[in-house]
Amino acid sequence: MQYDEISYGKAVKENGFQGDNLTKDLVILSKYLCHIDGLKPKAHKDFVYDFCKKNIYDFNEVKHYKTIDSCIRKGRDKHCYPIRIKSIPIYEEILKKIDSYDVADDYKKVMLSMYLDRIITKEKKSQRLRCGQDLNLCYYGNNKTNKLVYNSSRIGSTYKIKNVLRDLNKNGVIHDVGRNRIILKFAENINDEKIFHNLQSCDFDKVGWLWDLYKKKNNIIRCKDCDVMVRIKLRSKTTRCSVCQYIEDNKNKRKWDKNNK
Ligand SMILES: [Zn+2]
Repeated sequence: MQYDEISYGKAVKENGFQGDNLTKDLVILSKYLCHIDGLKPKAHKDFVYDFCKKNIYDFNEVKHYKTIDSCIRKGRDKHCYPIRIKSIPIYEEILKKIDSYDVADDYKKVMLSMYLDRIITKEKKSQRLRCGQDLNLCYYGNNKTNKLVYNSSRIGSTYKIKNVLRDLNKNGVIHDVGRNRIILKFAENINDEKIFHNLQSCDFDKVGWLWDLYKKKNNIIRCKDCDVMVRIKLRSKTTRCSVCQYIEDNKNKRKWDKNNK
């Protein structure tokens, strides 16, 4: 849900808190009320206070008003339009470019993962501000983003992310300009004509699989109905993810039942 604040905000509004972080939920709810429902400030505030009375056990207005007002203010910020990212196109050119470097496959997975981090950030920014943004190729490698990139690249415990970045910097693939800022040299001037794959938001944490899909390795396929990536068993003939397969089986079963009545 972190890539679909519109559905998330709607779910909070209709069914109460969705996550453990109440403040975060209140901000997303506020974005939804202001930008999607178009509530005026007074109606917005009344709604949120009513919501808190209903959904927070032992709600104490005097104790909590500061936090709640700050959530409302954040949600009403015109630079805070709710974001919704369903998928990100990954172009053939960037994959080819990454593959042209003489580094281990696991390094290429990290490169792709850093690239995706930049693209998602750019997309979020342009949706939030509701205007196009130039792609800033500077990757901010703090502990949190490095961890995300490392997990998403799925390289396991073979390498430490810090060492991969150090080596890539030594090879000139990226350029570490200090204070955690890294310029992705390999992603400069990418031609965005031919899409290799539309990476679904549920697969943003599996970029390593995308590399395997591109290199036709490790039994990764894309579901022919929904584009989600699936790791299949050796010699399996599956062409769909489990959800789409379930839908397909049901369709076939209904057809079969109809023909055999
Ligand atoms: Zn599917």
